Amino acid sequence: MSYAWGHERRYNDFSTYIRKLFNERVQKISIHAGFTCPNRDGSKGTGGCTFCNNESFKPSYCQPAVSVSDQITKGISFFRARHPEAKFLAYFQAYTNTYGELSQLIDLYDEALTHSEVIGLIVGTRPDCLPPDVLDYFAALNKRTHVTIELGVESTSDITLNRVNRGHDFKSTRDAVTRLADMGISTGAHLILGLPGESREEMLMHASRISDLPINYLKVHQLQYVKGSQLGSAFLQNPENFRVFEVEEYVELVVDFLERVRPDIVMERFASQAPHNLLLAPKWGLKNFEFVRLVDKRLSERDTWQGKLY
Ligand code: SF4
Repeated sequence: MSYAWGHERRYNDFSTYIRKLFNERVQKISIHAGFTCPNRDGSKGTGGCTFCNNESFKPSYCQPAVSVSDQITKGISFFRARHPEAKFLAYFQAYTNTYGELSQLIDLYDEALTHSEVIGLIVGTRPDCLPPDVLDYFAALNKRTHVTIELGVESTSDITLNRVNRGHDFKSTRDAVTRLADMGISTGAHLILGLPGESREEMLMHASRISDLPINYLKVHQLQYVKGSQLGSAFLQNPENFRVFEVEEYVELVVDFLERVRPDIVMERFASQAPHNLLLAPKWGLKNFEFVRLVDKRLSERDTWQGKLY
């Protein structure tokens, strides 16, 4: 059976989609360009989001002391042996990558885009950090190369966003996504399942609420307790006060979540794995492709698919 997204996989997966879009294998190269974020430097807050230790989600080749072009060259050499024919997207991942003077941002993005093997840009940021001049710049850039803006949404509940000290509300997400869509810029969203205080029903509600927005890509992952984050410290003191997903339980949640996601949204990720030396819980010991296999298997067993309940 072929689904709405044109193939037999039970969800609209990123790797198939992106290969079709570019007609070749495309790999993202993560970059740490030395940004901070307004939730750390005092303009929105100082402590950061309670779940955040940025060290837990960037590869080791990505260091701000190294220039953007050197990070790209290193990242490419890392992937080149396994994928000799691949092309690359420069992925400004660490912290808030639109938080700076426009001229400084343009210099950094240009440095990435002039690399001979880079065919486009992905910029991770917060929904409340897209001023009009930056949006206008992206709209113009989008006419000559591939641009995706990836927004840290994390939750669609203002109560949760407040609880995790996110420093913005869900309306900021709605506004940012709408403005990006109006300008024709493709947009990804990032959600965390299992943030403190959220019931299973609320987590499933995120699928419906985010599907109401004109996003193109979606990443979700389980809440991880990591060293160096406020939640990680609280977890170490009183682990009994915190929910830690068992892998089977989380797979079931992902399948229920997928059933509620709009079929044309491209699913980029279901789970994440912080580096071993930082991760406190949950410790599943699964690689991403192993987790994806469990989701595929459960979708088959339940004979269900992305958007079945949308
Ligand atoms: S998750 Fe993003 S916005 Fe929150 S503290 Fe970390 S870098 Fe800043």
